[in-house]
Amino acid sequence: MGTNERTLILIKPDGIQRGLVGETIARLEKKGLKIVGMKMLHVDKALAKDHYSHLVSKPFYPDLEKFITSYPVVATVVEGKEAVEVVRLIVGPTNATKAEGGTIRGDFSNSTSRNIIHASDSKETAEKEIKRFFKSSELFDYKLVLNEFLYAGDE
Ligand code: UDP
Ligand code: MG
Repeated sequence: MGTNERTLILIKPDGIQRGLVGETIARLEKKGLKIVGMKMLHVDKALAKDHYSHLVSKPFYPDLEKFITSYPVVATVVEGKEAVEVVRLIVGPTNATKAEGGTIRGDFSNSTSRNIIHASDSKETAEKEIKRFFKSSELFDYKLVLNEFLYAGDE
């Protein structure tokens, strides 16, 4: 069973400003995801353009770039079974107005542009995004002793 899939999370400037760092990370931890990297950083314009390259031609991009570069973010890599999909489910859809209660966006945002958190949307994207934000020396391979209680018996 693969319990070592990794995905990137960014708590965006609105998440930090609103005091939601602990709440957000707690939800991921309680699901059983293992934190393998974590840091605070300031996203510069070049990093924003790289990270949101699929959106640079959109009308909202100038606002998105200004926002994501305005204040620090907290970047985290978590690992676990089907981590990419599991984290997207915990985060909820981009448009938080349509996000169900119980999701991070559903509980804490009612906006598309200020939706608290970023999460990689596929395994391929996750691999690229993790490399974009973390050096290999900033990621930690360690045994989570709880794994046998979290996953034992799963296929
Ligand atoms: N975004 C926005 N307006 C839009 C669509 C997206 O401001 O109409 C911002 C929003 O912060 C979103 C980010 O661009 O989270 C990335 O968009 P994407 O479609 O990749 O959504 P996500 O993967 O974050 O759910
Ligand atoms: Mg996305």
